[in-house]
Amino acid sequence: MGFIVKLKPADRTWGVEYAIRDIVETSKLAKEQGKDLIYLNIGDPVKYGFKTPKYLIEAVYKAMLENRNYYSESVGIPEAIEAIKDYAEKKGIKPVDIFISHGASEAIEFAIAALIDVGENIVLPCPCYPLYQAIVSKLGLEPRFYYLDEENNWEPNLASIEAVIDKNTRAIVIINPNNPTGAIYSKKVLLDIVEIARKYNLVILSDEIYDQFVLDAGVEHISIASLAKDVPVITFNGLSKCYFAPGWRIGWGIISGPKDILEDYIEAIHKLARARLCAPHPLQYAVPVALNNENGYMKKVLPELRKRRDLLVEGLNNIPYIKCVHPQGAFYAFPSLELPKNLTDLEFVKGLIMEEGVVVVHGSGFGQKPGTKHFRVIFLPEEKILEVALDRMGRYIKKIVK
Ligand code: PLP
Repeated sequence: MGFIVKLKPADRTWGVEYAIRDIVETSKLAKEQGKDLIYLNIGDPVKYGFKTPKYLIEAVYKAMLENRNYYSESVGIPEAIEAIKDYAEKKGIKPVDIFISHGASEAIEFAIAALIDVGENIVLPCPCYPLYQAIVSKLGLEPRFYYLDEENNWEPNLASIEAVIDKNTRAIVIINPNNPTGAIYSKKVLLDIVEIARKYNLVILSDEIYDQFVLDAGVEHISIASLAKDVPVITFNGLSKCYFAPGWRIGWGIISGPKDILEDYIEAIHKLARARLCAPHPLQYAVPVALNNENGYMKKVLPELRKRRDLLVEGLNNIPYIKCVHPQGAFYAFPSLELPKNLTDLEFVKGLIMEEGVVVVHGSGFGQKPGTKHFRVIFLPEEKILEVALDRMGRYIKKIVK
């Protein structure tokens, strides 16, 4: 006789949600019903026609032809590590160690898994890119949340950080430039976060995967590690966004701070890296080529993206019941919704998909201040597509909010 009861998944999967992909189910339904869909939910530039630079593809192809198809060093090939070191130094970081991973996602998971035990906690932003909650839930850790202030260009609310820290807090996460808000943090706020980390002995985990997506003149992206020589920081980055190769799954972590206190932690991360053998080997040969070039492609993309951002944000702010803070970086905006009390942002998003075919992600999938409602929208598509999407959003919200 075979199994007679339905398999019960492990409890650790309960808290694992990925709102960005979850909404895909509703889109599938809308598509089956013949809706013409506009996808404004995917944080993947390549899906919107931005191309992986040819010279990166050639570097990988060459490595494959040279039969570099065996496992690499667990922490990555020396050529790539050297290039990451140079890049980090240009940003004012003094790396103590660098490891290459399956996307920044795996580096983030290593950094958390190697540091925090069950019974301890980590401080995450609210709203937050859902990967962090998924990792924390999988590891059975306790997430604590600090707010990003919409009224203050979505900068971290420092009082709310201090309010959730206790003796079991081990790390604080910042995402800069931010997903889902598009904010780029000021030097002042970064220095204040360093001060808090110093005061409570926290490791700073700084996700900088969008560091070159800086859209406004006069705004500079600052790596927090460059301001925190005496505080342990892991800075995450990779090829997914700024080098237009998300499907390659190449990311990295740069560890900086006082060497003597970091030794055991670094070894713990290396152990996790060894246990999964290596990140995709031939793909790592794209890293030195990517980082040692000027990233001219990005220079062409930014003015175009700026136009798309301006069109979207202005359009959103012209729709009644929607308000959008100006995003300075990445390719996301996180507008707020003024909806009737009994209508959630998830219901709004599902309705928008089913009735108008515009796919965005509900704010509750990222977390938000109680009582507020939002959605996340990307501005990667061409202007004429964004214009149609804006028309449809305006039509839908006017219909449901009376
Ligand atoms: N961190 C943030 C803030 C992201 O938005 C994403 C992807 O959307 C990632 C990490 C994942 O990066 P990777 O593709 O390198 O795993």
